[in-house]
Amino acid sequence: MFELTGKTAIVTGASRGIGKGIALKLADLGANIAFLHFRDGEKADETVKELEAKGVKVKAYDCNVADFAASEQVVNDIIEEFGEVHILVNNAGIVRDKLMLAMEETDFDAVIAVNLKGTFNMTKHLCQHFKRKRRGRIINIASIVGINGNAGQANYAAAKAGIIAMTKSVAKELGSRNVTANAIAPGFIKTDMTDAMPEKAREAALASIPLKRAGETEDIANTVAFLASDEASYITGEVIKVDGGMAI
Ligand code: NAP
Repeated sequence: MFELTGKTAIVTGASRGIGKGIALKLADLGANIAFLHFRDGEKADETVKELEAKGVKVKAYDCNVADFAASEQVVNDIIEEFGEVHILVNNAGIVRDKLMLAMEETDFDAVIAVNLKGTFNMTKHLCQHFKRKRRGRIINIASIVGINGNAGQANYAAAKAGIIAMTKSVAKELGSRNVTANAIAPGFIKTDMTDAMPEKAREAALASIPLKRAGETEDIANTVAFLASDEASYITGEVIKVDGGMAI
């Protein structure tokens, strides 16, 4: 089993869903957790309690990752509170699904701002810290849609493809400082995001999965745990699909 005792991880969008699963898994392995959420304070409070029960240091930060100045402030606050940060998981994401003909400029801008610019903001503000410490793990949650595209998700697919390209670029820039950057491309994972899909779209997605089940948040969290561990120290610039074979 992987060991993260004494490490600190920042996980964005961890009040619920995949981010919460990631935070719980990293805490199980001994990591202290600083997590970001945006709207739902009650869910964040519940998550804090669950994480604290694991005996690690935990703090939730209400911060919009799309806001450059606010994300800089939150990174500084976390470094001051926790000391060294070892792991950054850029997970916060939203969807505004519409076919291209119906997609509004606001739908495009909002999805790019949270998913792609949010990933840029957090990485940008932490990379000097990682460089100075000469170690760091950046793990970006992309999507198989960023590899294959998807009707009704041109905004989201573009954001996730951008995250994949950003991951590879950052891996090349920071490799000499012992900082790795990898992406995970989930398929169809059971969360509020997929619960909100129309019934027909959900059925079609499930039918296209060779393993014949939706993924669980733990499936993604286990892969994050591996990429954050010492055992993954020679992996960088990689995109790992965790999708039950959906994008084969
Ligand atoms: P989710 O259940 O909707 O949770 C999204 C999380 O992101 C929440 O904690 C939310 O906080 C936070 N968030 C949203 N906007 C934010 C912002 N501007 N700043 C900071 N935090 C923000 O989503 P999920 O299904 O767990 O998805 C997590 C990630 O996996 C996303 O990047 C998503 O694109 C990706 N993904 C999911 C699937 C899937 O099948 N579920 C598949 C592929 C990729 P609040 O509750 O406070 O708003």
